[in-house]
Amino acid sequence: MAEKKAKGKIIIDRDRCKGCLMCVDVCPNELIEADKALNKKGYMPARVTEEQKDKGCTGCTQCALVCPEVAIEVYRAK
Ligand code: SF4
Ligand code: SF4
Repeated sequence: MAEKKAKGKIIIDRDRCKGCLMCVDVCPNELIEADKALNKKGYMPARVTEEQKDKGCTGCTQCALVCPEVAIEVYRAK
């Protein structure tokens, strides 16, 4: 089924995140932003922007590689 969707997708574990926002800086498509609501640790965690669906994550894994907390999982569509 040729569903129109992005090639990649990320999931951020918001309670594992410490809000360093390195992933925000590194994403070439600006698909990650700071959440205004604090997580359990009291940090403003990273979250995926609404545009991820439209603009599309390429699944490049740069965000996951830069994350010191290993809080980002990258999935690639076939
Ligand atoms: S790099 Fe990791 S710890 Fe830092 S803001 Fe992004 S998800 Fe959170
Ligand atoms: S995998 Fe690449 S394109 Fe997708 S959110 Fe992470 S840095 Fe951005």
